[in-house]
Amino acid sequence: MNKIIFSLCLVLSGVSAGVAQEATIATERLRNQSTQFQEQVVKVADKVHVAVGFSPANVSMIEGDDGLVIIDTGMSVDDGTRIMDEFRKLSDKPVKAIIFTHAHGDHTGGAAAFLGDERPQIWAHENFGSEAGPWKAGGLTFQNVRGARQAGFKLPPEQRINNGVAPARYPKRGGAVFSSGRETVPTHFLGGDRKSINVGGVEIELVAAPGETNDELFVWYPAGKVLFAGDNFYRSFPNLYAIRGTPNRSTRLWAESLGKMADIDAVALVGGHTNPILGAEQVKQVLNDYRDAVRFIHDKTVEGINKGLTPDELVEYVQLPEELAGKEYLQPFYGHPDWGVRTTFNYYLGWFDGNPSNLFPLPPKAEAERVAKLAGGAKKLLQSAREALAADDNQWAAQLADHLLAINPDDKNAKQIKADALTKLTSNMVNATARNYYLTVARELRE
Ligand SMILES: [Zn+2]
Repeated sequence: MNKIIFSLCLVLSGVSAGVAQEATIATERLRNQSTQFQEQVVKVADKVHVAVGFSPANVSMIEGDDGLVIIDTGMSVDDGTRIMDEFRKLSDKPVKAIIFTHAHGDHTGGAAAFLGDERPQIWAHENFGSEAGPWKAGGLTFQNVRGARQAGFKLPPEQRINNGVAPARYPKRGGAVFSSGRETVPTHFLGGDRKSINVGGVEIELVAAPGETNDELFVWYPAGKVLFAGDNFYRSFPNLYAIRGTPNRSTRLWAESLGKMADIDAVALVGGHTNPILGAEQVKQVLNDYRDAVRFIHDKTVEGINKGLTPDELVEYVQLPEELAGKEYLQPFYGHPDWGVRTTFNYYLGWFDGNPSNLFPLPPKAEAERVAKLAGGAKKLLQSAREALAADDNQWAAQLADHLLAINPDDKNAKQIKADALTKLTSNMVNATARNYYLTVARELRE
């Protein structure tokens, strides 16, 4: 266990006696990742600037002879306004076009800040918004609860380090305004595979690139050799599955889209989040590695599926090769390889893992009662859970607590053990979304 015990232990509010939170190597690594999204405007090529860290997502500006093209707009109108103020120090030309790389709110919510007297063209993929469509149609709302857990919105600032590829923000606390209404919806669409457009004196190519979402596109600006990847690239292992719950993301198509980007000879790569990658060789290397990593997850998972392995077995079977796993831009700060494996299985085969014992499993309570009986009674089970927690066998402690909670959902001891186990699990976890989720559920259990 990689622990550096700091003289001043960070004691988390609400953590029961005995479970102090120590600053660990994992915590420090995630903290260091914040240097990837400190506020700055980066010049990536002649007439091309990127605002990093002003909002969770990057916002870019290309200056043409007659106007500006803005790529993505940040999360809120406040963020967008601060960014536009920065861009206005560089150019006073009118915004002629806004391009959304995809429909996620952290890339579209600030759009209203970039509108001028004249309405710009607003470009997006023709599938724009396709991820949220089925949720709305199906009446689903619970992804909001999980999304808040993943983002850590309910955590106090000292528990929220960052979001892995973005600074921690509390959208509701600031009373933020998000773009809505007709003036910020897309007016122009990319229908086919690619399309060249010329707007404001800027020639760019829009290329369909299914990956993080089905409505993803990337932007190629040949005059400056700049590639704007949207969320198919940022400096972290990619979020092949978001634990807030997402419709299936195709790891096969994501790797293909990265291949298309790697084939372009760009000298600057602007991801949807984190600092840009600069230099022809670096861009090539990064995109090749990124594609290889996603492709490896896909291919190795399929190989394992064809051997009859279940998702729980596959996450052990599929291990990213050392030379990729060690890359700075493939660390699991945001996405995690295990989740990519599980989502690839799910994409092809759905929920059934192939084991007939799992076709009609015992309900949680019925199973837990039998486990308690095996252990020598519920009191023995509780004792085992306590021992596991004391021995830092935290995942097991959480699973034993789940059995106790299945027997009695109001079991205060079990809630305490699970909350403490989840809190302790964060000490070796560099993944920001998993940490936020653990800590938020721990708080829910303690309330
Ligand atoms: Zn994003």
